Amino acid sequence: MDCLFCKIIAGEIPSSKVYEDENVYAFRDINPQAPVHVLVVPKTHICCADKIDAANSACIARIFEAIPKIAAQEGLTNGYRIINNCGEDGCQTVKHLHFHILGGKKLPENMG
Ligand code: 5GP
Ligand code: ZN
Repeated sequence: MDCLFCKIIAGEIPSSKVYEDENVYAFRDINPQAPVHVLVVPKTHICCADKIDAANSACIARIFEAIPKIAAQEGLTNGYRIINNCGEDGCQTVKHLHFHILGGKKLPENMG
């Protein structure tokens, strides 16, 4: 499958890994929008949040179990933002489900 994040998970494309377990991979965004900008992805390919259902939703729990560990590791003791862009109107550019963790500064209030 021609998926950028599947290739990153497989190690075929290099990434700056910050966390990995059996189900989840996390790495630094190549174009950071905040002092800390990490992408958290399920190791299985799911194209977007709109394709979550009862059969695959366990990966969401695994991702959200990983996020506090990643935040602690990154020193985000004063909070952070979790973002998921979904589909065309959500401006999702990489079609492998991912959550952005942004932090390390006071983030803008505007959510678009
Ligand atoms: P989206 O716009 O789909 O929510 O977010 C995709 C994110 O992936 C963007 O923030 C972009 O900077 C990041 N990105 C795109 N290509 C690469 C890459 O090859 N490596 C890394 N680490 N991040 C990437
Ligand atoms: Zn993929």
